[in-house]
Amino acid sequence: MSILNVLRKIVQEVGIAPDLNAVLSIIVSRVQKAMKTEVCSVFLLDKTVQRYVLMATHGLNQEAVGHVSLGLNEGIVGVVAQRAEPINLQDAFTHPSFHYLQITGEERFHAFLGVPIIHQREVLGVLVVQQHEKRRFDESEEAFLVTLSAQLAGIIAHSHATGNHYALGASLNGKLDVRYEGVSGAPGVAIGRVIVVSLPADLDTVPDKTTDDPEAELQAFNQALEAVRDEIRQVAANLSERLSVDERALFDVYLRMLDDNALALEVSDRIRAGSWAQGALKEVISEHVRAFSAMDDSYLSERATDIKDLGRRILRHLQDEVHNDVTYPENAILLADELTPAMLGMVPEGKLSGLVSISGSGNSHAAILARSMGIPTVMGVANIPYLRLNACEIVVDGYSGRVYLNPSEELLQAYGRILSDERAVLDQLNALKELPAITKDGYRLPLWVNTGLAADVARSLERGAEGIGLYRTEIPFMIRDCFPSEMEQLESYRTQLAAFAPALVTMRTLDIGGDKALPYFPIHEENPSLGWRGIRVTLDHPEIFMVQVRAMLRASVGLNNLRIMLPMVTSLHEVEEAIRQIERACHELRDEGYDVKRPPIGVMIEVPAAVYQARRFARMVDFISVGSNDLTQYLLAVDRNNPRVAGLYASYHPAVLKALDFIVHEAHKEKKHVSICGEIAADPGGALLLMAMGYDVLSVNANNLLRVKYAIREVTLEDARQLLHRVRMMHDAEEIHQELRRSLKAFGLTRLTRPATPEKE
Ligand code: PEP
Ligand code: MG
Repeated sequence: MSILNVLRKIVQEVGIAPDLNAVLSIIVSRVQKAMKTEVCSVFLLDKTVQRYVLMATHGLNQEAVGHVSLGLNEGIVGVVAQRAEPINLQDAFTHPSFHYLQITGEERFHAFLGVPIIHQREVLGVLVVQQHEKRRFDESEEAFLVTLSAQLAGIIAHSHATGNHYALGASLNGKLDVRYEGVSGAPGVAIGRVIVVSLPADLDTVPDKTTDDPEAELQAFNQALEAVRDEIRQVAANLSERLSVDERALFDVYLRMLDDNALALEVSDRIRAGSWAQGALKEVISEHVRAFSAMDDSYLSERATDIKDLGRRILRHLQDEVHNDVTYPENAILLADELTPAMLGMVPEGKLSGLVSISGSGNSHAAILARSMGIPTVMGVANIPYLRLNACEIVVDGYSGRVYLNPSEELLQAYGRILSDERAVLDQLNALKELPAITKDGYRLPLWVNTGLAADVARSLERGAEGIGLYRTEIPFMIRDCFPSEMEQLESYRTQLAAFAPALVTMRTLDIGGDKALPYFPIHEENPSLGWRGIRVTLDHPEIFMVQVRAMLRASVGLNNLRIMLPMVTSLHEVEEAIRQIERACHELRDEGYDVKRPPIGVMIEVPAAVYQARRFARMVDFISVGSNDLTQYLLAVDRNNPRVAGLYASYHPAVLKALDFIVHEAHKEKKHVSICGEIAADPGGALLLMAMGYDVLSVNANNLLRVKYAIREVTLEDARQLLHRVRMMHDAEEIHQELRRSLKAFGLTRLTRPATPEKE
């Protein structure tokens, strides 16, 4: 077998292993076999004790597993980890760092090759092969082990996340303040109890839970099973004309798999043993999937997909059952593999205190919504054992992007102090509700809001918003199961328009694609950010676009405070086409007897191509709005949803600031109104820079509106201009960040800067 095939087989096998221990034992035995060495072992870093623990071995004594370990600078393993590079030795005994590990039986082996296991710059552990003979492993062996280790690092990191951290030598039990790192999604601190939520019908993200009422779980399971049997019979009946005898037989196979004596019996047994139905289903299905996938016969290994599909179908019914049945604690903290906007609405008003997502980053839409709701959020916490954390107490530090499990009294007190400082700042900010955003030297800057969730309107009005600069119309589309009708859209648009009239409401046409998926209109692409999104989708689907535009226009009849905005434009012809369609909708509606006025139409500048054509666009439309979230992603070539590159997404990158400066000047040459609705405007430091650049309106999330207003009221326009002048001279995002922090402090705005949060390891 070629190296590539060996690698592929190992990666496939570990990909479906149930837990970290299984992953590691597959690795050691397959590597040993493929490299024909006598020993293969894995040492993993146990952060709680800061040691590399022997986690699996083929060739050394099994009793040593989980019991022997090396300090961070101990042994050759320690050197491999510290240098983050392979060490290949003919005779390990002669190396100055050699440290004999008792009970392993390693004294018999001389040749040593160790390679670090590194995930996102972090050394997770070391993979070692050893041999009795005194010889150097050759280059191809070294290359093989390095390649394998690089591929396995992600799987090992993910296995930690799915709960197997507990398998490590020292367990979490009893250990206080265990810290996990992610990135800030929404600022603030939350202390509460975890509710693990899974994506609909995703078996892998079902949390482990026990049940006190197995009878009820059994009943739910049986109902779900019956529902799936009905579905399969129905599908078989519908397709019977079009299927061959063989294909029809497949449906019988499915039904037999669901038979009371097959899968169902195993699930029921586990429920009787105390698991909740979804967890029992997950375990049984994954065992069968594993068994089938491992078979060499391709027909049989394909059956793994069928079993997984059956499992998903049953799960979907079980989830429908329990959806309304969850009791949420007072301070619920939702923890999900992939936090979606739909999940934010799951928890009853007032009970949601924090959010944690394993994937995604600070600029994912779920994070943007969390900021507008003011819910402290940490995104991209790749290593947290989330499936095991239901009901655990947890601290979410949305400022530093950290999460703490098992918080100590001392940590709770420290965060408690930050919470009460936050409340004091909030009281102070609330006093500004009725006041305008006006600088000390009398420059008035309108502050509008971004909306999307139903509750945003009330929240925004309460905080004195002067208009809506971005209504993300796709958000209500995302929490449904089919496209809303013209009438349904009209009603929700009317609510926004009426609440703000006569102030202007900027409605963005449907901006789906990227990280915004509609469950009933799936778009699967290799590279969704550069794919079919925003105006590209709606121009290809005029029926969807026209229904939406008609609904907007009808909603504005008699109020006439609507502005329509087009997302993700790159070329003039897209705008021409969209304007033509909007005008056609106006004519049609007038013909139907509605008194519609042509609304102002604007474009969002979100891609570099639009930056360089800003003046041309300005000539064609009535206003320009900058979508700096996407613009940053495209200028820096950093996927805004990818936690791996979250550290490179720099809102204050000099190139981004240059582009923002350029756009406003170009659009002003055409005397067009320019607003900005990206998140940079909601950051007090960013808001001051944008004001100095000349932006006519800042549109910010409701939660940050008062902070931005406070910042503006505490400075003069001249102060802001000087700050911009200093920043323009700088070449580095971090330097600019520091300058903003320093200046906010100098303006007396320390309370708007991030509080110092505890630094617990
Ligand atoms: C933006 O890209 O800056 C923007 C406001 O749109 P969204 O965040 O919804 O993509
Ligand atoms: Mg955008």
